[in-house]
Amino acid sequence: MSVLVYVEHAEGKFRKSAFEVVSYAKAIADQLSTGLTAVVIGNGDKAELEKLGTYGASTVLFTGNTQLSSFVNQAYASLLAEAAAKADAAIVVMTNSFSGKGLAPRLAARLGAGLVAGAVALPETGDRKFTVKRSAFSGKAFSFVTLLSDKKVITLNPNAYPATENAVTPAIEEFSPAVKESDLGTLVKEIIRASGKVSLPEAELVVSAGRGLKGPENWGMIEDLANALGAATACSKPVSDAGWRPHEEHVGQTGIAVSPNLYIAIGISGAIQHLAGVSSSKTIVVINKDPEAPFFKVADYGIVGDAFEIVPKLTEAIKAY
Ligand code: FAD
Repeated sequence: MSVLVYVEHAEGKFRKSAFEVVSYAKAIADQLSTGLTAVVIGNGDKAELEKLGTYGASTVLFTGNTQLSSFVNQAYASLLAEAAAKADAAIVVMTNSFSGKGLAPRLAARLGAGLVAGAVALPETGDRKFTVKRSAFSGKAFSFVTLLSDKKVITLNPNAYPATENAVTPAIEEFSPAVKESDLGTLVKEIIRASGKVSLPEAELVVSAGRGLKGPENWGMIEDLANALGAATACSKPVSDAGWRPHEEHVGQTGIAVSPNLYIAIGISGAIQHLAGVSSSKTIVVINKDPEAPFFKVADYGIVGDAFEIVPKLTEAIKAY
């Protein structure tokens, strides 16, 4: 019995969440005193694959099959089910990403496995118990799920577990089982455009602004602050609905969920639908001229004042630092 981790890549390169999920799976493998196999689909770059050994994957299975270079749920689920059989895996772990959210239930059904989606901590094990803490109700609560099934599938939230070096030299093996035509039926593409210089779902620092900015012509100061910090830019829903900013930047219940180390909210009221996408941020800083703005209730630091005065001063101070 081993642990299998499915590792996503963006055009052949692993992002931070890939190393996080491998580290998380390695820690589970260590808890169970077993080995860790990583599976990578549509990437045969050996130098890149070897990076997974740095985080503890002792075997890396990859397929360079070009039919699978874009995410196809059924085909990926079939391939992962075969990889799980090959690795004799009792536990399969993946990122709780756009594709992971679709793939994990399908794979769990194929394996007859129990599923925990949105894990935020390592499982508690022992006495046949396998209890996983997960984020619930759009990040407003946690729940603890005990899996009693022999096989288990877990999706890990990005930024919930640190990438931890645990170097081994991995055995890298090509693994290309035949793909059924019927499995190639639906092609769902995720297109993530980088907001500013940093990809928003992966960003550790996010500068976000809302309707308090009055209009798109005022976003220069938001971009200046984001550039000074090396942060991604984001916005509230009305801002993207009005076309002031692209929809890829819209954060919240109906947009992207982020969990950066620092989320700076400027001129955003803090409606519950917005908070649903940001509540797992580690530190929240709110800048708002209304001291009663609901965002202050969840803020770690708050500045009551006019964004047009505060933001340029903040940027200057960060540049001078
Ligand atoms: P406003 O509510 O207009 O707030 C603007 C804020 O700026 C105010 O707090 C004001 O005090 C402050 N301000 C004004 N001028 C200044 C200044 N000069 N300096 C500093 N502060 C200033 N919203 C999302 O964001 N994401 C979602 O995913 C989302 N999903 C939704 C789903 C549903 C089903 C529904 C019904 C709504 C959803 N909404 C979502 C909308 C949400 O309810 C709010 O309407 C929205 O978040 C408000 O955006 P805002 O804070 O930018 O604007």
